[in-house]
Amino acid sequence: MATIDSKEAIDRIIARNGDPPVEEPSEPPAVKIVEYTNMAGRITWGVVWENEVAIGTGNRYEIPTPYVRNPHVIWTRDITVAGGGGASQTPTPHAIICVEHGKVYLTAAAYTAQLSMPYATWHCPTCGRAAQWDDANYESYLSPDGSNPDA
Ligand SMILES: [Zn+2]
Repeated sequence: MATIDSKEAIDRIIARNGDPPVEEPSEPPAVKIVEYTNMAGRITWGVVWENEVAIGTGNRYEIPTPYVRNPHVIWTRDITVAGGGGASQTPTPHAIICVEHGKVYLTAAAYTAQLSMPYATWHCPTCGRAAQWDDANYESYLSPDGSNPDA
């Protein structure tokens, strides 16, 4: 998580679609930018990095506090350019429902990673937003004897 108070720096991140700057190739990709008003009344931007979504802190800047006022997402990474992340192109028992992307199937790796993290909620692998677990999808994979599709 990074707080940036320069709109120019934010515009540069958006211009390169969240990719790390050439001079910092080991930096994780940025996946989301939240604009908000800080404690001092100044417009500030919170940048969420890809690895933060994986550990479950990707929505920190979207929760209003005295330090984070009127937060709103102004940009999310267009990951179709980057290759899909944790989204599976073929149906799997594990899907989430995103307000932005609708039903998104998780790859086995993304499902395992999200399951093993102390998430308050599931996340969309495409944009990192909090998402809803698609229980109906999971249940459609249950065998007639009720055994789970992961067994
Ligand atoms: Zn999404």
